[in-house]
Amino acid sequence: APSPKQQEKAKATPPDPPLPRQNSKTTPPSPPKVITDKNHLLEYQRVGFLGEGGFARVYEVKDVRGTRLACKVVTKTSLKTKKAKTKLYAEIKIHRSLAHPNIVRFHDCFEDDQNVYMTLELCHSGSLMDMLRRRRRFTEPEARFFLVQIIGACHYMHSHQVIHRDLKLGNLFLDASMNIKVGDFGLAALIENPGERKKTICGTPNYIAPEVLFDTANGHSFEVDTWSIGVILYTLLIGRPPFQTKDVKEIYTRIRDNNYEFPAERRISSDARECIQAILTPDPQKRPTLHEIIASPFIDFGIVPQFIPLSAHDGPPDFR
Ligand code: ADP
Repeated sequence: APSPKQQEKAKATPPDPPLPRQNSKTTPPSPPKVITDKNHLLEYQRVGFLGEGGFARVYEVKDVRGTRLACKVVTKTSLKTKKAKTKLYAEIKIHRSLAHPNIVRFHDCFEDDQNVYMTLELCHSGSLMDMLRRRRRFTEPEARFFLVQIIGACHYMHSHQVIHRDLKLGNLFLDASMNIKVGDFGLAALIENPGERKKTICGTPNYIAPEVLFDTANGHSFEVDTWSIGVILYTLLIGRPPFQTKDVKEIYTRIRDNNYEFPAERRISSDARECIQAILTPDPQKRPTLHEIIASPFIDFGIVPQFIPLSAHDGPPDFR
């Protein structure tokens, strides 16, 4: 069976329309060792490689003061189509409008002849996906801590009319103090008119809400992020996503049928189970609001740690 990593990478969506992401097979040339922002007379020294996604490569850079940042690089050759440009501009427009302690801060963007660059807050400690791989699963207090921060970021986005649409462990980064930083606004949508519905089928198979796949006539809205938060909570506590299986079509069938289980060998509290079940309600109108999740017994009656110790990277902390 594919690992969760492979599942996350498998960004294939059902037949059409195709995912608004490109996957070029050829490796583009590296950006220059010194990246120059001509408009602001700034220079960034490229000091390391952080990772790559569907259409960007991300480097660690250092500005003249020695401050370290992440720099997301998109080659102009991948921006030949109008669609690709529109998509990148949407990501930039949305991401730069957001400022919240649990959202990767957008610093600036500029270009040279080869690439478009976005400088972002650096997240030193990888993603929750990397950490889950080491830990296998998290304790309930840790899950509460992460959930409260994710919901804080999500509530902020929604109150700024932004739907993230790709919340998943691989897009939840951690800073040096183990705080969540939501990143990758590549699939985010701005709701410009109240009541507007989105129709594009997008997301990552394991985390896609049923209405995105099966209510294409009606479209979807903010509740798709709530669904993903339910998938995230399940994954943090059980160790793998609820609808996971090797065949993407079968994942969609399971999502359609709300077919998932709580394996008996992973003992989780009934409050946690009820919280997950409430969030993974197929009808988006019946799903709890973000406030209701925060007020649920799982969060309200349980230990929510003030912080997560760094030791949690490798083993469960002892919260009392
Ligand atoms: P894409 O939009 O192409 O999917 P992402 O934004 O997901 O690209 O970034 C790709 C990878 O780069 C991530 O999986 C992560 O490893 C790394 N990365 C992205 N942003 C940051 C950041 N702010 N700090 C540290 N690493 C990052």
